[in-house]
Amino acid sequence: MRNKLMAVTVGALLGLSGMAAAQPPEGRGPPAGKGPAKKEAAATAGKAELTWWGHAAFVLRTPGGATLAIDPWFSNPKAPQGAQWPEQVDAILVSHGHFDHVGETKALQQKTGAQVFGCYELVSLLGVPQDKAMGGNVGGTFKVKDATIHFVEAVHSSSYAADEKSPAQYAGAPMGFVIQIDNGPTLYHGGDTGLFGGMSQIAERFKPTYALLPIGGHFTLDPAGAAQAARLLGNPTVVPMHYGTFPLLAGTPDKLEADLKKAKSNAKVKSLEIGKATAL
Ligand SMILES: [Zn+2]
Repeated sequence: MRNKLMAVTVGALLGLSGMAAAQPPEGRGPPAGKGPAKKEAAATAGKAELTWWGHAAFVLRTPGGATLAIDPWFSNPKAPQGAQWPEQVDAILVSHGHFDHVGETKALQQKTGAQVFGCYELVSLLGVPQDKAMGGNVGGTFKVKDATIHFVEAVHSSSYAADEKSPAQYAGAPMGFVIQIDNGPTLYHGGDTGLFGGMSQIAERFKPTYALLPIGGHFTLDPAGAAQAARLLGNPTVVPMHYGTFPLLAGTPDKLEADLKKAKSNAKVKSLEIGKATAL
């Protein structure tokens, strides 16, 4: 499966040749300058801020000063050109072991000293310092400043290869994350997932304000599936992700809007502009 994904992705990347990655070489931080990093202080105005880096990658800043990077594939083909990595990161959340979600976790951890959260088996494979490796599993809850992070189910697969020549290793369960911000919204990042009935339990327990859902299809939910997911999740505002990175991920926010109507869901769609911090 992973090899297929890699082949598909490499093919897609070749088709996008010339789209330089907006990131520094492995292990080296970028110089300070323009880009999302200069907005780091804005979250202190009292609102959480979410910045989409393309694909499933996000940076979340909370009013209490926590900075969380989720699935930080900052070199994805749609990443904002010339954007700077965040200077300060408290936690890196990795939903599963596929390369398009692990992304630049190791380099970002080295640059910022962040803790790395994810499934125990996966985090053990990533080569982060032991005292920064926060491996857990579905059901686990962790506190980072004013953010409470819950590991929840995702229906997908998970394996990890350190590079293209290494065999893929078992990386534990794929996961999603629920992030509750004190005196702020609750976000659900689905990771790579298909539809599952437990989404209604996520709604019951956490009542997410925002659901960051994949809509690309093929490996994950497509727009019709995401519309059903929105219903199960209690109709939160849906932030579409994991689409358009490659031609294969064909779902679109417009299709999602249409499918939400068809599903008689009153969930709103909030499409984020890549690289722009959005107050929640
Ligand atoms: Zn995946």
